[in-house]
Amino acid sequence: MGHEPHDSHNGHDHDHDRHHDDHHHHDHHHHDSEKPWQAVRTEAVEALLTELGIIDPARVDEIVTYYEEKIGPKSGAQVVARAWTDPAFKARLLANGLEACAELGLGGPETEYLHVVENSPTLHNVIVCTLCSCYPWTILGLPPAWYKSSAYRARMVREPRQLLSEMGLALGDDVTIQVWDSVSEIRYLVLPERPAGTEHLTEEELTALISRDAMIGVARVTV
Ligand code: FE
Repeated sequence: MGHEPHDSHNGHDHDHDRHHDDHHHHDHHHHDSEKPWQAVRTEAVEALLTELGIIDPARVDEIVTYYEEKIGPKSGAQVVARAWTDPAFKARLLANGLEACAELGLGGPETEYLHVVENSPTLHNVIVCTLCSCYPWTILGLPPAWYKSSAYRARMVREPRQLLSEMGLALGDDVTIQVWDSVSEIRYLVLPERPAGTEHLTEEELTALISRDAMIGVARVTV
């Protein structure tokens, strides 16, 4: 990946990141021009911890690469496709999400308990974290920016039907909306409905249809 060596870090570099763009310290921090304060603060903390010998920058890069490249919504899609095609697996998934995901080699840090909630023609599940941004990272990858926005977090509990409609998912009045508020110990995954007309598709073909948004519960799976 060609990361720049981290030992070039010092406080002055960070203070002036906006003014030098001849090279980047971290490939994963993208362009420096409009860097949010959170990124500046994180880099400052990282630089300090590195300087004090508390963290190893190579290990930090490994973790970032893991989250950027190794995990992602494809894992969740594999879980859903398996549940659609294997009723026994689906039963195990609904009973204990984490154990069933482990059967597919999925799981890891940040998910102590995974509760899988199944959509039906009359019940639609959607996940949110009203407190912060808890999300099933190991199954869905990094959360989208809107998931962490205060508007989503507040409105999904106050007016889910209206918000879902604005996000492109219009649900009839006959559909009950169940909102699941994540906490650090319990993460949720929506098991969307398998669309009609997909009976002939293989598990792999089904996997390609299943979007991250459908597993958060702000979209349907469509063909
Ligand atoms: Fe949270």
